[in-house]
Amino acid sequence: MTNPHVFSDFDGTITETDTLVFLATRLGGGPQMVAAIGRLIREGNLNLRDAIAAEMRSIRHPFADAVSLLRAEVRLDPGFAPLARWCQTQAIPLTVLSAGFHQLIDLFLPRAEFPHLQILANELKPNEETGWQCSFRDRTDWGHDKTVPLRAARKRGEYTIFIGDGLSDRAAAEVADEVFAKHSLAEYCRAQGIRHREFQRFDEVLTQLQERFQKEI
Ligand SMILES: [Mg+2]
Repeated sequence: MTNPHVFSDFDGTITETDTLVFLATRLGGGPQMVAAIGRLIREGNLNLRDAIAAEMRSIRHPFADAVSLLRAEVRLDPGFAPLARWCQTQAIPLTVLSAGFHQLIDLFLPRAEFPHLQILANELKPNEETGWQCSFRDRTDWGHDKTVPLRAARKRGEYTIFIGDGLSDRAAAEVADEVFAKHSLAEYCRAQGIRHREFQRFDEVLTQLQERFQKEI
């Protein structure tokens, strides 16, 4: 297998906590609103894009409040930075595909520390008066159709490896050549018969990728 390209979801995959759920719970509508939105999604009465927009709109705090809370309470999977470094040394492209926001991802994955990383995500415009506004990459139900960059990579002849955990990753898991899944994405893959490898932490993913893709130097 030549030309591997690693793609990863951000919230709940690279971070241990979903930053959107965290912010809506702590600074926005609170746990009851987040639970109600989750119910509407499960019942098929709300798409993810509108759900994220509603959660962000419920926040009327300055962005700095979010920055301090996120920095204090949300952790990255400690295995992600080693995986990113390994991809860089192996010249394997690594792309973050997120239904969340550049402004939040940049706090955790600054360009200076992760120069090799490409990030595809939505834009957030914090506004204390109107609630935080979202600008999505596309008009699909997901706000960011992760299958678009995956299909483009496959067309270029790349072998696509996708790592994810949740709802926004389902379509991507159906398109990628290979899937690493945890949490509800693993359940979805099992139910749909999508071939996948279950993982809990990035160090497991890195070990498996090293075994199969490490170049002889
Ligand atoms: Mg996720």
